[in-house]
Amino acid sequence: MNHTIVMIPGDGIGPEVTGATRRILDACGAELSWIERHAGLAALENGSDVLLPEETLDTIREHGVALKGPCTTPIGGGFSSVNVALRKQLDTYAAVRPIRSLDGVKTRYEDVDIVVVRENTEGLYSGIENVITKGVITSLKVATEPACRRIAEFAFRYARSRGRKRVTAFHKANIMKLTDGLFIRCAREAHEARYPEIEYDEVIIDAGCMRIVRDPSGFDILLCENLYGDVMSDLCAGLVGGLGVTPGANFGDDANVFEAVHGTAPDIAGKNVANPLAMIMSAVMMLNHLAETRDDPSARAAAMRIRDAYNACIAARERTRDLGGSLGTSEFADAVINRLDA
Ligand code: ATP
Repeated sequence: MNHTIVMIPGDGIGPEVTGATRRILDACGAELSWIERHAGLAALENGSDVLLPEETLDTIREHGVALKGPCTTPIGGGFSSVNVALRKQLDTYAAVRPIRSLDGVKTRYEDVDIVVVRENTEGLYSGIENVITKGVITSLKVATEPACRRIAEFAFRYARSRGRKRVTAFHKANIMKLTDGLFIRCAREAHEARYPEIEYDEVIIDAGCMRIVRDPSGFDILLCENLYGDVMSDLCAGLVGGLGVTPGANFGDDANVFEAVHGTAPDIAGKNVANPLAMIMSAVMMLNHLAETRDDPSARAAAMRIRDAYNACIAARERTRDLGGSLGTSEFADAVINRLDA
C-alpha cells in the first residue's frame, strides 16, 4: 500500500532533520511517496507571498498526513506563529508528545514513560491581544466547551487504546475559575460517563511541576490546555534527554501532522549538529498511525525496523553531541540506515 506524505521542511534546523528522516524512511522499505510543500520563511523563499500558503494547507487536507519541520516564529512584532496557524487551520486539535527514557541515555530518572496530550486550538493561543490604553495590554484566554470536551475525550480514548492507566489534568482552576474550571469539568464528565476503568486525577500546574521533577513515576497521561501543554512538553523533555529526543503528532479529524516538539533552534541551524532523532521518532509515530488507520501492517513493520535501528545506534554510542556523542545530523542518519538490516 502506497501512502502519499506531504513533507514540509520548515526553517532553521528543519531542512536538516527532515532531510535526514526522509532518507531513513526511503531506506526502510516503507511505501511512501512524497509531495514537498512549504510553510514559514521557507515559503517566502520559495516564491510565496504568504507564510502559510493555501496550497500547503490544501495538499495536507487532500492527503491527510504531513511530516513537518519547525517554522520560524519571531518573538514580539512581525507575524503570528506559522506552527500555531497550521494547527488551527487544519483543526489538528490534539497534540500527543510521548516522553520516554531511552536505553543508555543517562538522565536523572530511569523508565520515564509519560504522554503529554495538549489542546492545540485555543487557550492563550487565541492570539487575541488588545492594547486597552497606553501601557495596558490584555491577552484573551479562550476555553470553549466543545474543544474542552473533545480533548478530554481524546485523552481518555488514547489511554484506553494504548492500555494506559491514568489521566491527570493539569490546571490552574483555583485562579482561572471559569476557563480552567470548564476544562477540568469536561475531563471529569468524560471520565465518569465513559472511562471509569481509567484512573483520573487533577493537579494544580505549579504543584504538578514540582511533583513531576521530583518523581515522574506516578504520572502517565498529562491532559493539558494549550499553554500548559507547551510548557509541560519541554519540562518533560528535560527528564529524558532534551528536545532532541522528544517527538510529537498533531491529530485532527481530517489531517494529521507529525512534528518534533523542538523549534527551529537558530543557534545550531545549518551546522549539521542538530539531533534528528525527535523527527525520526515523529516519523515512527506517523508510520504507526498509517498502520492503524489504513490497516497496513507493512507500515508497522517499517516503524519497528527504524525504532530498533535507532535504539541500536544509541546503545552503541553512535549519537549526536546533545546526547554526548560526536556524530553530525547526516552521520547519525547514515548510522541508523546502516543498522536497518542488522
Ligand atoms: P523557536 O523560536 O523556533 O522555538 P528556539 O531555539 O527558541 O526556536 P527550540 O528550537 O525549541 O527553541 O530549541 C531550544 C534549544 O534547544 C535550541 O537553541 C538548541 O540549542 C536546542 N535544541 C532544540 N532542538 C534540538 C535538536 N533537535 N538537536 C539538538 N539541540 C536542539
